[in-house]
Amino acid sequence: GSGGSGGSEPTITAGTAPGFPPFEMKEGGDLVGFDVDLLEAVVEETDYSFEGWEEFEFDSLIPALNNDNIDVIAAAMTITDDRDENIDFSDPYYSADQSIIVRADGDFSPGSLDDLSDRPIGAQKGTTGEGVVNEELVGSRITEGQYNAYDNYVLAVQDLENGNIDAVVLDQPVAETFAANRPVSVAFVYETGERYGFGIREGDSDRQSALNDGLSTVRENGTYEELTQTWFGE
Ligand code: GLN
Repeated sequence: GSGGSGGSEPTITAGTAPGFPPFEMKEGGDLVGFDVDLLEAVVEETDYSFEGWEEFEFDSLIPALNNDNIDVIAAAMTITDDRDENIDFSDPYYSADQSIIVRADGDFSPGSLDDLSDRPIGAQKGTTGEGVVNEELVGSRITEGQYNAYDNYVLAVQDLENGNIDAVVLDQPVAETFAANRPVSVAFVYETGERYGFGIREGDSDRQSALNDGLSTVRENGTYEELTQTWFGE
C-alpha cells in the first residue's frame, strides 16, 4: 500500500490457516490453494487493493480479524450461528460435510459413529470437526481423554499415521485430498451440510457487499468453475 498520511485507499489484508489442502497449504514455501486463488480473483473484481496474506492457526483467525490484523478470513470457514455472533460472513462459496478418516493399511474400518466407540479420535482445534467430536462422541461414545485436539490437521493426520489415534474427523474435501496423497482413507461421511464463507468484521458492510458482488462476478465469468477444476478436478 501507499501508506500516505490521510490516505483512505480501501485495502484488504487476508488471513488464512495453511495445512488444509486443497483450500490452503504451503508448497515450496508459497501459500497456494483454492481459497487463495478464489479470494484474490474476487478482490480483483472490487475497488479494494489486495495487500497480501497473513498466516495463523485456524483458531486464531477470528481474534486476528477482530484485532484488525486482517480484514478478511479465507480459510474454508463454515458459516455457523456461533461464529455469526462475533463476525459477519460473505455469501457461501463452497459446500462440505465431515468425513472420518482412518489408516489405509489398518484393520479398523468404521462405518458409523458407533463404531468409533472407545477409540482415540483427533480433530483440529476450533473447527466444526471438533464440534462433531464434542457433540456426537465425547461423553457418550468416547471419554474426554480419548479426544485429541491438534493445532492443525496435518499434525492430526501424522498422529493417525503413527498409530497414536485411530480416526480423524475433518471436512470431506480435505479428507479426500489427504486420502489421495497419504496412507489414509475415508471410512465414512457424516453429513453436516456446511457452507464456507469469507469472514469479515461485524458491521463491515462495505467489504461484505464488495466481496458478494465479486463472488457473483467470478461465478458468472467462469473463473469460479476454472478454479474448482484446477483444485478439485471437478
Ligand atoms: N470448515 C471447518 C470449520 O470451519 C474447518 C476449517 C479449517 O480447518 N480450515 O470449522
